[in-house]
This record gives sequence, C-alpha cells and structure tokens, in this order.
Amino acid sequence: MTLAPNPLLSPSGLPYAVPDYAAIRPEHYVPAFHAGFEEQRAEIRAITDNPSTPTFANTVEALERSGELLDRAAHAFYTVSSADATAQIQEVDEQLAPLMAAHQDAILLDGALYARVAHVHAQLEDADLSPEQRRLVERRHREMTLAGAALDDEAKARLTALNQRLSTLSTVFEKNLLADTNDLAVIVDDPAQLDGLSAGELSAAARAASERGLEGRYLLTLPLFTGHPALASLRDRDTRRRVLQASRARGARGNAHDNRAVLAEIAALRAERAALLGAQTHAAAVTADETAGSPERVEALLRELAAPAARNAAAERDARQRFVDATEPIPYTLEAHDWAYVTERLRTAEHDIDTAALRPWFEAERVLRDGVFAAAGRLYGLTFAERPDLPSYHPDARTFEVFEEDGTPLGLYVLDLYTRDSKRGGAWMNPIVSQSALRGTRPVVANNLNVAKPADGEPTLLTLDEVTTLFHEFGHALHGLFSDVTYPHFSGTNVFRDFVEFPSQVNEMWILWPEILGSYARHHETGEPLPDDLVERLRATETFDQGFATSEYLAAAWLDQALHGLRPGETIDDVAAFEARALADIGLDSSVVPTRYSSAYFAHVFSGGYSAGYYSYIWSEVLDADTVEWFRENGGLTRENGERFRRRLLAVGGAKDPLEAYRDFRGRDADIAPLLTRRGLDA
Ligand SMILES: [Zn+2]
Repeated sequence: MTLAPNPLLSPSGLPYAVPDYAAIRPEHYVPAFHAGFEEQRAEIRAITDNPSTPTFANTVEALERSGELLDRAAHAFYTVSSADATAQIQEVDEQLAPLMAAHQDAILLDGALYARVAHVHAQLEDADLSPEQRRLVERRHREMTLAGAALDDEAKARLTALNQRLSTLSTVFEKNLLADTNDLAVIVDDPAQLDGLSAGELSAAARAASERGLEGRYLLTLPLFTGHPALASLRDRDTRRRVLQASRARGARGNAHDNRAVLAEIAALRAERAALLGAQTHAAAVTADETAGSPERVEALLRELAAPAARNAAAERDARQRFVDATEPIPYTLEAHDWAYVTERLRTAEHDIDTAALRPWFEAERVLRDGVFAAAGRLYGLTFAERPDLPSYHPDARTFEVFEEDGTPLGLYVLDLYTRDSKRGGAWMNPIVSQSALRGTRPVVANNLNVAKPADGEPTLLTLDEVTTLFHEFGHALHGLFSDVTYPHFSGTNVFRDFVEFPSQVNEMWILWPEILGSYARHHETGEPLPDDLVERLRATETFDQGFATSEYLAAAWLDQALHGLRPGETIDDVAAFEARALADIGLDSSVVPTRYSSAYFAHVFSGGYSAGYYSYIWSEVLDADTVEWFRENGGLTRENGERFRRRLLAVGGAKDPLEAYRDFRGRDADIAPLLTRRGLDA
C-alpha cells in the first residue's frame, strides 16, 4: 500500500490557495501541525542566531515570514473544527490545543527574540520604514512586552505557573457550568404547564426529555444567558418562575459544580498576573491594549449609558405593569420572569407586529443575492459567481468567487448556512486564507450560521434575527475580503477586540434600507414585497424594550469590569454580595431586570476570551451608530460612500491605529449622540 502525501504540507495549487478539502483527511492535521511547529521553531532560531545587528528585515519581517506552514494547517483545521467537528476532529482538537498554546507562548516569551525586537524598536525613530512597518515593530514589541517577555527568569516562571493554573481553572469553570446547566434543565410533567409554546417547541421539549429517558415528560434546556427564549411565550407564571430560577442558580448551589470559589481564584490570580506585568489591575492590563486604553474610559462610557438605560427600563416596567393590570383576569406584580412574556403581548397590542409571521418574505437565497450581495454591489461594485468546482469541507458550504467592479478577481467567500450536530452554536466569520502582500496571498473567508435546514424541496425561510445575522457576518467577511495590507499580522479582522464588531454592525444598516429591503424581502410564493405599513411598524419598534436590553447588557459589562478591577491581594469572599454592591454602584440593581450573566455562569469572561472585554460590543456600537449617521448624511447607498468606507477603514485592517483610521474616514472622532438616539437613551 502506498501512502498519499499529506496535502497540507505544501500549498494546494488551487485558485486562491484554497485548501484541498477533497484530499485532506482528519489524520493529516496532527503531522502537519508538528511539521509546522518544527519549521517555525527553526525559522525563529535562524532569527535569534543571526550574528548581524537586529534590523527590521532580519528580525521583525523575518518573524512575519515565519510559520507559513503552521498558518496554512491551522486555518484549514480551525475552519473544520468549528463548523464540522466530528468525533475524530474533536479528538484532534483536544490533542492540538495545549501544543498550539505552548508553541505560541514559547515565541511570545522568547528572551533572545524579544531582545532583538526591542533593539529594532529602540532604533525606530531613525529607521527608514513605511507606516505599516513602523506599526508592526510597535505592535510586536508591545505584544511581547505585555505577554511578559521582558521579565526575569524567576518572574517568567511564576507567570508560566499562573498561566497554567488559570488555564486549568477555566476548564473547570466550563465543565462545572456545562454540568450544572444540564442538571438544572427544567422538567415538566403536564403539557398544560407549557401552554403558549408552539407545536414545534413542544415536540422538541418532549424529544429532549425522552433522550434523557424521561419518556412522556418535557424538558426545557437552558441557554448560556439569564433569560430563556421560552419565557416570551410561556403562559404559566409558575413555569416561568421555575425556568428563570434554574437559569440564575447555575454554578452557585453549593454542590460539586459550584463555580464561586473557582471564579474568585481566577479573579485573584489574574490580579496577581497583572501586577507581575506592571499593571494595576487585570482590567488595566487588558484595556491598555485596546482602543479604550484604560478601565477609566470604559467605566465612563458604561456610567454615561447606565443612568438613562435604567430610567427607560423603569418606565418600561411601569408600562408592563399597567398592561398586566388592564389585561390579566387576576393582576399580579410584575417580576423578572414575567418581563419577556408581557413584553411580547404588549408589542403585539401596541405595534401589531408578530415577528414570527415575517418569515415567508425572507427566503434565504433571495436574501443573500438580492439583499446581502446586492448591497455590496451598490456600495463597492462587487459581483459574485458561485464556484461549485472548488472543494469545500462540507457539502453545505458553498463557495463564491468575488469580483471587483472592473472584473478583477478579489477573493473567495464561503457561506455555510445550516445547523448540524458537528457545528458549534452561534454565527461567525473566519479566514481560510488571510490576505497578505508579503506572502502573496489573497483572501478566502467563511461565514457560518446555524439556520435549521428545511425538508427536501422546501425553501429556507429566515427569521428577521437570522437576516440580521447574515448581514452582520457578511460585514466581517467584507473586512477580510477588502484587506489590503503587507503583513499577515494586520490582515482583515486582526484588529482590537473593541473595534472588530464595528464594520459588521455597520453592515446591518442595509437590512431595512428601502432599495435593498424592497428587492430581497419578497414573499416566496407570490413575489409580493413586504407591505409598506408593516415596514413602517418594524422601523417604529426599533427602540421598543431597549431600556431592558441595554440595562441587562450593561449590568454584565459592569460586573466584568468590577470582577477584573481587583488589586493584588484583594479577594472576593462572597460572590453574591460582591455582585449586589457592584450593580448598586452603577444603579443597575433592579430586581425585574437581572444581569444578562451572573458571575457563576459568565462563560465569556471566565472560560472564553472576553475577560474585562465584554464592554466591547457597546464600545464599537458608538462608532457603528456614528457611521450609520454619516452614510445617511451623505446619500446612503452610493459607490462613493462605499469606496471611502472601504479604503479608509476596511482595507487597512490592523495596519493603522483604528481611531486614527476612524478620524480619517469620518473627519472627526466618533460622537455618542447617534447611539443614544438609536437606543432611546437621549429622551
Ligand atoms: Zn460580529
């Protein structure tokens, strides 16, 4: 028997160097990663062993050239491990995760490499370099410094120990949360207690129960955040109460899955690590390397928004209470578990909108071609041609070639719309090949969603939320496709975390834009457009319930900052009391509007990558709302506007200071007023 060569070890030779998924098998990944580690280690050694004086070319640029094989293997693999993680791929993932982390840490903390980078950095004033090259030196130097490369050996040893302990604690947190979430799923015996759920939701609950051996009963599993989608339709108050209580109890029940001691240790160790790295708090260490710059600036924004959000939420509570008093046969005092249910009844009564009834107007293919692609055509001159001849990692992942207005090929766009067991939840964009002039690569980007696949021959009808998600993720895709940088370090969405959501949020503005909506929102059977009055009502409800939505989000963002504002030696002894104090401090302690996440199930910040960074969503929304305003002031959907947004913001990736790029595009710093208006916080 002959062994086929590993297709990951060399460039595929296919258009845009897209991975040859037809030839790649799961067993190819581990050897390709090992070869990639080895190759990059040798490349780094060649840099550090170089007897010549460190220069930009022989050190910083050489570092950018290194790791090409590893990047190729990693991009190909992480595309699959997020979108189609079969058992075999999961096994590979578990095997590779610690190796990949150790490899990256070894480069970041390499003392000899750091000394050379620092030397180039120290000579920067006199160096003859382009602005992108200058920024590359600054970023590489800063990233290594912040990671601890400048520390002495004793401090580095302590840092490594802290990192390892923190990584273990994050895994414990995640496992505890998963176990408690499963244990606390709500079991219901009598279908009458689930009155209000649709037939589909009811049968899903029955199936979930029988999968656990609870034949003839019903099971409501819990989502990550505090609220539960079913709370909007459950008529039985007692069931609503049980669901919300279960959700909020996670990780804090004094059982084997209790996360309170775990998160307190994480917070304390992060504070110690921050001090080791010369920062006052973990929040200071994180925000120092974001556009925010400091926790004080984050705090100022959150405080500015919190007061009007809490005021609006209080007015919304009063309106909901009046509605309960007027419509319920036996009125009750509104509680947290009643909010979503009463809100949906009020929405229908006040605005006559049933969001579920919109789906026949949102047929997926039409939304894609006459909505998402059409808007990109009007703004940027792009056209799209499907390329079924190119290999993809799954039959549902479709590949489109993207062309400039003059027909020049730009890159590839992969859309993988449908949900499956092997795909992780949520929606995202990821690069399969990153654009870089240095490496001569053009962009290949993928969008993933989790839309339910219809039966054969049936059309895919999207919800308004799913339409929004598609436009949003395509905004990230444009960021990757328009990337026009030299160095891979700056490609596409490789920008600060509190900036990266901005372009994708902006792209959502075209969803209800009249010319775009009029072309894609057609009834899938009759071809009729959405009735005008319905469109009007949709626009009129944009600030509906925003006091609640803004408050629950801000509460979580504030908690995240408070948890990561500890000084070394400070500890959290009582998590509930700590949370109560923090939320009272910012005036977001309403009993009917709970925080979107409590600490004991705040996976974003204790087992995800968002510690001291959950504020990012609203931070980038300031730029988003201000940009939407700019497009409106300047005539909306025009080639000229698109060109300016593309060239000054999207194309530069991380190669330019993002706030400078913003000023270059907007002519001034961002103004917060449009965000306040959008969320109804200015009244
Ligand atoms: Zn996004």
